[in-house]
Amino acid sequence: MISFAGGLPAPELFDVDGIRAAYDGVLADSGRKALQYSTTEGDPELRTAIAERLALRELPTDPADLLVTTGSQQALTLLTAALVSPGDVVLVEDPCYLAALQAFAFAGARVVPVPTDDQGILPAALEEIAAREKATLLYVVPTFQNPTGRTLPADRRAAVAEAAARHGFWIVEDDPYGELRYEGERVPWIAAEPAGADRTVLLGSFSKILAPGLRLGWLRAPVGLRRACVIAKQASDLHTSTVDQLAAARYLRDNDLDVHVARIRAAYRERRDAMLAGLSGALPEGSGWNRPEGGMFVWATLPAGHDATTLLKAAVGHGVAYVPGAPFSSGEPDPAAIRLAFTTHSPDEIREGLRRLAKAFA
Ligand code: PMP
Repeated sequence: MISFAGGLPAPELFDVDGIRAAYDGVLADSGRKALQYSTTEGDPELRTAIAERLALRELPTDPADLLVTTGSQQALTLLTAALVSPGDVVLVEDPCYLAALQAFAFAGARVVPVPTDDQGILPAALEEIAAREKATLLYVVPTFQNPTGRTLPADRRAAVAEAAARHGFWIVEDDPYGELRYEGERVPWIAAEPAGADRTVLLGSFSKILAPGLRLGWLRAPVGLRRACVIAKQASDLHTSTVDQLAAARYLRDNDLDVHVARIRAAYRERRDAMLAGLSGALPEGSGWNRPEGGMFVWATLPAGHDATTLLKAAVGHGVAYVPGAPFSSGEPDPAAIRLAFTTHSPDEIREGLRRLAKAFA
């Protein structure tokens, strides 16, 4: 099976040796500390290292602005616990990251989709909806979005921040993919927009740049909301694993994470290019797809009348898989949409997978 379905990082690119050395070092030098309970906010050295990375990317951050989370997925749970009561309105991009939709639904939120185009949220649509609904928060993945791979341009980020200030909703800016850029210029975070500074929560993660099995993420939030998240985290898991945090801090001290991320980027760029080059031969005539500048996903739309869920059976029968796009939608789902992940196979395997897809669709 060649799977374009999963959203997993490529395991052969994990720095197993470097991470093993970090754990060895931590257990040898400070084993008792590493195996003890710790503070809810997170290990000071790790928070300092994260704050430095954010500051280097033009978002001045104090370690005290950060809460270490058990993956950025937990940050979504904590923010939902802190902010969302049953019936509250949560605005989301349409389509949207599935597990965020699940977190909001689990809290009893009324999820309201905001229409998008190839560049993400449409500011005029957001404005119209925000004027009509008393929204608690807007959840957005502005860079290399899951599932679409889209990136929100700077002017729209400013418009989103201004809409939040005008209408009084929080922005949850989820950015697990931003460092995986293969071309083009970095777009500053919404959290760095003056209008959004006091109402944006930025979520980050080591999952895509180091390893998801570490379950290490963070949130950067204004003090009141951060305190509420700390209390929610105390009730949830007391704190994120001490040994994992210390090992990550050690890894960041002993290695240049940017060098490692550059290695990942080089490999993923080739894989993205192999997928983009092969799509016209694989998808039925009249299909469309985007060209993401980074991340892990291509978003494609089969010609009208095609049902991606039905066709998936044929694809799996030919030894290739993708994810139908409809479940990512909380609005009017497009049955012809598909998400293709390009990270876990070599360019040759991707070409073979696309040949199989062509046969399945034929
Ligand atoms: N947000 C988005 C948009 C994601 O795609 C993912 C993982 N696929 C997560 C959050 C969760 O990541 P983690 O908990 O591993 O940091």
